[in-house]
Parts: sequence; structure tokens; C-alpha cells
Amino acid sequence: MSTPASLPTDPADPMPGITDSGTVTDRLVEANQQYAAGFTDPGMDARPVLKVAVVACMDARLDLHDALGLELGDCHTIRNAGGVVTDDVIRSLTISQRALGTRSVVLIHHTGCGLLTLTEDFRHELEDEVGQRPAWAVEAFRDVDQDVRQSMQRVRTSPFLLHREDVRGFVFDVKTGLLREIDAA
Ligand SMILES: [Zn+2]
Repeated sequence: MSTPASLPTDPADPMPGITDSGTVTDRLVEANQQYAAGFTDPGMDARPVLKVAVVACMDARLDLHDALGLELGDCHTIRNAGGVVTDDVIRSLTISQRALGTRSVVLIHHTGCGLLTLTEDFRHELEDEVGQRPAWAVEAFRDVDQDVRQSMQRVRTSPFLLHREDVRGFVFDVKTGLLREIDAA
């Protein structure tokens, strides 16, 4: 079975991103003005207080700070589709550890991830559509536990990282809000 490389246009929402009071970005900018009005400089430096970097899926249902009891300044958050440990995540982790003092890595995938519904065919369909195959892998997976293990393994075997001992991986359940830890195996 193939997966379309893009969603069909939703007839109920022909102009996605437009709301009654402007674009969605206008709404965000407005919210920022309210945020800044109540903001006081906490006087922190850039090094995360808890010395931890969290790598997680970009999924909209996963509120990392609330789910993990994190406060402003506590951690680095590195997010992408799937929470997959790509070369670019290794780049961020390397800077996080070597320049900004983090020592622990927490990996979070989740139930119902969009990458469970994709395959590498996505790349071929993109190529058919735009005439160019992306240089990146889709990093789709069928087994979320196994993908967490693979991500842990990529961190633990990276020669660029200073701290590879405290690396733990979890699956966040979007229905219960609970984390389930995955054995490295
Ligand atoms: Zn996801």
C-alpha cells in the first residue's frame, strides 16, 4: 500500500491558517504581546538547570514541560517528526553537552505517531511529484518500542557525545499521559 506524499485539500477549510481575526501567525504574535507584558527576566544563563536534553516527537499532543514537570530553564528540548535520533539531533546533542553542560538524554516517542503510518515509499512519491528525491530518510517505523531502542543506540554509539551513560527511552501514551520505559536490550 502506498501513502500519499501530501494530504488532500480539506473542502471545509479551503484556506488553512486563516482565522476570523487574521492568520494563525497573527494570533501567535498577539499572544506573545500578552506573554511579554507579564514577563520578567528570570536572569538565567543558557545552561539547562537539570543538565538534561529531551529528544521528542513534534506531536501536538505531547506537552513536554507539563508531562515531565519541567520548568523554564530546566532542559533542552530537541523535537522532530518521530523524535528520531538523526544526524541533526546528534548535532544538537553534541552542542548541548559540549557547550552547554547537559549530561543526561531522555528520548520520547509516543503512541499513535504519524510515522507509524508512513513508509520509505513517501520519498519515492515525493520524487515522482517534484522530480527530486530528498537526501533525508523518512525514518518511518512499524514498531515504536524498537524505534526507541534504535534511537538510544544511536546516542550511545555517537563518538561526538561526552556523556552516553545516562540515556533512557520512553513511549508516551497520548490517551493516558503516562510514559512507559523501554529497555535498551
Ligand atoms: Zn509522533
